[in-house]
Amino acid sequence: MCVFCEIASGRIPAHKIYEDGETAAFLDVNPSAPGHTLVIPKKHYSNIADLPENLVAATFKTAKRVTHMLSKALGTAHFTTGYNMGKLSGQEVDHLHVHVIPRFEGDRGTSIQAVVRNPSAKSLEEMKEEIIKNGS
Ligand code: AMP
Ligand code: ZN
Repeated sequence: MCVFCEIASGRIPAHKIYEDGETAAFLDVNPSAPGHTLVIPKKHYSNIADLPENLVAATFKTAKRVTHMLSKALGTAHFTTGYNMGKLSGQEVDHLHVHVIPRFEGDRGTSIQAVVRNPSAKSLEEMKEEIIKNGS
């Protein structure tokens, strides 16, 4: 059983700040910032592609709730929120988790789009056509 399944079931400890029937939120053990929180569906799904839509809603509802809690508790309205999907993106734990990372003045962080710089040689028009034609 995976480590986040163990946390969801309470078999291994975590610093949970919120949970309900379908989701849980706990502090990242290796925080990038004060209050860095992970939000998970309690049931094991590797990524959002596999996650049923009702749990997509539940997970992001919890991310919103946790953002409000952190904002109030830590006094910031600035956050970086997102998930890694797949090894190439940096996903290490194979149980979907949304990172909610509070941001502060002078924290030396950057924006989420700065994690990679790999623009396509194709035009945006070509990309659009390719995605709609092959992805729909
Ligand atoms: P990712 O690279 O998106 O898979 O991130 C996995 C995150 O889970 C990392 O930020 C780890 O610090 C965190 N993590 C791993 N194990 C635990 C744990 N037992 N409790 C809390 N956070 C954890
Ligand atoms: Zn799991």
